[in-house]
Amino acid sequence: MSDIQKLSYYKTDAFIGGEWVSGAKRFDVDNPADGSVITNVADCDRKLVEQAVEAAYESWAEWAAMGAEKRGEILGRWAALMHEHIGGLAAIMTAEQGKPIKEAKSELAYAAGFFEWFAGEARRSYGDIIPSPFEGGRIHVIKQPVGVCGLITPWNFPAAMLSRKIGAAFAAGCPVVCKPASQTPLSALALAALAEKAGVPKGVLNIVTSSDAKMVGEVLCTHPQVAKISFTGSTAVGRLLMEQSAPQLKRLSLELGGNAPFIVFDDADIGAAVEGLMAAKFRNTGQACIAANRIYVHEAVYDGFVDAFEARVEDLTIGKDIGPLIDDKAVEKVSRLVEDARSKGAVVRLGGKGGKGRFYAPTIIEGCTPEMDLFHEEIFGPVAAFYKFSSEDEVVVAANDTEYGLAAYFYTQNLGRSMRVFEALVYGMVGVNAGAISTPVAPFGGVKQSGFGREGSKYGMDEYQNVKYTLLFE
Ligand code: ADP
Repeated sequence: MSDIQKLSYYKTDAFIGGEWVSGAKRFDVDNPADGSVITNVADCDRKLVEQAVEAAYESWAEWAAMGAEKRGEILGRWAALMHEHIGGLAAIMTAEQGKPIKEAKSELAYAAGFFEWFAGEARRSYGDIIPSPFEGGRIHVIKQPVGVCGLITPWNFPAAMLSRKIGAAFAAGCPVVCKPASQTPLSALALAALAEKAGVPKGVLNIVTSSDAKMVGEVLCTHPQVAKISFTGSTAVGRLLMEQSAPQLKRLSLELGGNAPFIVFDDADIGAAVEGLMAAKFRNTGQACIAANRIYVHEAVYDGFVDAFEARVEDLTIGKDIGPLIDDKAVEKVSRLVEDARSKGAVVRLGGKGGKGRFYAPTIIEGCTPEMDLFHEEIFGPVAAFYKFSSEDEVVVAANDTEYGLAAYFYTQNLGRSMRVFEALVYGMVGVNAGAISTPVAPFGGVKQSGFGREGSKYGMDEYQNVKYTLLFE
């Protein structure tokens, strides 16, 4: 028995209606660092997913009626348990996801931060009293939970992507049915085990692990008892979920792909920009939808910047700073993008090759152009692709030349330029002299094909609430 298997919150069964359910079938979960099978988990079929929705629906009235303060307390206890068990949770996450243990711990603290934030927000979900234009009439506005929410999350941040949805849903008074990515179900199940300890009532939290994502998506999008879908993942799947939910006009939040530009102007603090890029590029080995995908450096500072960046990249240690990619498909994709760029004239300055198993060397590639696939696609790996530019107007047009609009970054010391470029970038989030922008207190989300809806912050709860107005006469 490995160390993680001894943990009381190490679970491999699905969590439905407050029960751990082993299911008729199981599927394997592997360790991306060496490809070894860690364990197998419950492979929920359609009936179990429907059962989870029904359990959630049954729990709804009581959960909503419990009151914001009590729900907030439960979220607070859940967060405290995550902090208490951060070492064990990080070991589980690293085993199934591959990120270095230091990064796993930092994700878990970030994930718990959503519970902490929404524990407070639960109490601040104010309505309104609006001066009535009608004599004797009163206008009141309240916010009510939308109902059962189907939450579908990816493998790159197995705890935080779930907690920022669950935190908002719970604060609002919604029960949830969660489908974690099949690569990383163990983190979600461990969180559910701690939720039980924190006092989350039966049925309010359901985790349906499954190898059949399509089936789970279909059930959640078409089941009449599901009111809302919140999804983080690819744009292709986001579109499909929207289509499937259209007949019932379900509420949707879609946090989809990105293609983040990272711009270094000639008036930037170069040292700060290098550090910012290290964070924006190599966090989670580049496997983040807000990872810097296209790096634009002004021609006047280009050589100095890339030299300084290269020196920092050479210092990265495999295992400590850089993990493996999630699966073989991911390695193939990154290799394909690098080869395509090379074949079209880009120059690989550092790395540019796979390592042992699913490891890919931190890579610097120069001379990139819009003709290359890595200009249009999310690289999702430790590959820094460089472009040179000569004017502000030109780089803003280039930065916006993508169907995506999630995160963008730029470095400048000029105040006027900060405001101009911030306003001109067609993105949901912009880091100005900042390479790490995620925090539970700020609204996370995109525009264009990066989706819609905001997570975290005071805006995050709106996604899980209906606004109801009453005009009242005595
Ligand atoms: P990624 O490339 O990050 O794996 P996906 O969009 O494929 O992005 O996956 C994100 C989440 O969506 C995962 O939980 C995955 O299992 C789920 N998923 C994939 N295909 C579907 C689908 N057809 N319907 C519902 N969920 C899906």
